[in-house]
Amino acid sequence: MGKPTGFLECKRELPAYSPVVVRIKDHKEFVQSISKIKVEKQASRCMDCGVPFCHSGCPLGNNIPDFNDMVYKDNWKAAYKILASTNNFPEFTGRICPAPCEASCVLAINKEATAIELIEKNIIERAYQEGWVKPNIPLLRSNKKVAVIGSGPAGLAAASQLNSAGHQVTVFERSNRIGGLLRYGIPDFKLEKALIDRRLEVMRAAGIQFKTKLEVGKNMPLDRVLNDYDAVLLSGGSTIPRDVEVKGRNLKGVHFAMDFLRQQNERNAGDRIKKEEAILAKDKHVLVIGGGDTGSDCVGTSIRQGAQSVLQIELLIQPPNGFNPATPWPQYPAILRTSSSQEEGCEREWSVLTKAFVGDDKGQLKGVKLVDIEWENGSFKEIEGSERELPCDLAFLAVGFLHPQLDGLINDLGIDLDERKNVKTKKYQTSKAGVFAAGDMRRGQSLVVHAISEGREAARKIDLYLSGSSVLESKENSLISVVD
Ligand SMILES: Cc1cc2nc3c(=O)[nH]c(=O)nc-3n(C[C@H](O)[C@H](O)[C@H](O)COP(=O)(O)OP(=O)(O)OC[C@H]3O[C@@H](n4cnc5c(N)ncnc54)[C@H](O)[C@@H]3O)c2cc1C
Repeated sequence: MGKPTGFLECKRELPAYSPVVVRIKDHKEFVQSISKIKVEKQASRCMDCGVPFCHSGCPLGNNIPDFNDMVYKDNWKAAYKILASTNNFPEFTGRICPAPCEASCVLAINKEATAIELIEKNIIERAYQEGWVKPNIPLLRSNKKVAVIGSGPAGLAAASQLNSAGHQVTVFERSNRIGGLLRYGIPDFKLEKALIDRRLEVMRAAGIQFKTKLEVGKNMPLDRVLNDYDAVLLSGGSTIPRDVEVKGRNLKGVHFAMDFLRQQNERNAGDRIKKEEAILAKDKHVLVIGGGDTGSDCVGTSIRQGAQSVLQIELLIQPPNGFNPATPWPQYPAILRTSSSQEEGCEREWSVLTKAFVGDDKGQLKGVKLVDIEWENGSFKEIEGSERELPCDLAFLAVGFLHPQLDGLINDLGIDLDERKNVKTKKYQTSKAGVFAAGDMRRGQSLVVHAISEGREAARKIDLYLSGSSVLESKENSLISVVD
């Protein structure tokens, strides 16, 4: 441990955000930087606990006390090596991870947790600045070929790992650009896309091939992939959104959240959106249905586009402030959180049900009927007399994703699905030999950190399948247990 009294001497400190009035003028990241000395001080707060719960709190099993110690001792290069040994993309998780590691930090029992995510982000940014992030070119090639279908964090992590094991990896992506939801879902103000491009440059230099605008099972024949490659990884994400099937659902102005978010990401990247297809919140009364991350991203994007008002509603009950006895430490606490987007000026309501969308005579959304509900034993009933109609010109449905797209690739493969219609696997292998699955396509809608972890674990299983043994790092060969 670097400094035994660090956590007693120094308080948790995070970088400031640009003021709301400034940051909503564009779609850029707004978290300000913090000095190296301050980050080292934050690292000194790590207690290097005998049993570091942050290790198991992190789905990647990051060796957090070890890199904290190196940062505190000003040995950033060593910190980078430790971090990179378990996490292929700390530049993503260091910005957008909900940081379950911090929730399980021992300090968090009665103090503020070590600022692990901040430290992680600063390690990787420094590593890029100093030129420590180098392509991991294998010394020997195995002459085995692997196709990775889907270029989100799961596919990219698997591609990195498999390439470093010597296999020739090709990533197929149906969109114009690589990155999955990192590219097209998560807004620039949380994750600027130049960060993805910077990482892709390193991956290309390491020998990974990327093929865009190719949907396997559609304009890229599945048989060709199965014949040409020794193993296949399915990492196509969970892309079928849950709907809100109420009266007026088909009115103009009611959209799935991803259609809106994708467009703004494309606009930021310089793509032209056809006028008749553009979904824009300027001067509109916006309703966001769903209180999660996706909903919050719709709020921030609507505000940046100049919405007149933004209301975010959630069916579930408002979580408690500060502490929830149902999720004690070291679990991730189910408590009230306010995202940076919500801070920017939206109203929020909980225990609210959407009854109907109301349109004008041209089929354009102009209002929404809502009703308050009361929860009891897992079911709810409407509160009499609470029904109301509000003006609403644009509504975004951000109520989660059901399962991967089955049409095409998955149906053509004829592989087994689980009860939620995600791809069923045993140790990441599907019911078809040589075909593996990872990320949201396998586990259902989740988080970037889980997708990276799944990509790494699946890569090890593919390496074992192709080579009979594997030296790839994974949770399997660390002390952290693996759940398949
Ligand atoms: C709006 C939004 C915001 C989010 N914010 C956060 C956040 O802040 N923090 C966080 O941790 N998580 C967040 N998430 C969740 C996170 O983005 C996902 O869990 C993660 O991206 C899943 O990674 P994946 O690689 O499994 O799939 P994806 O990222 O979905 O990538 C799958 C890719 O596969 C491609 N594909 C599918 N089928 C084919 C095919 N047949 N051929 C070729 N390509 C194909 C798709 O086009 C896509 O690019 C968010 C999700 C959304 C929707």
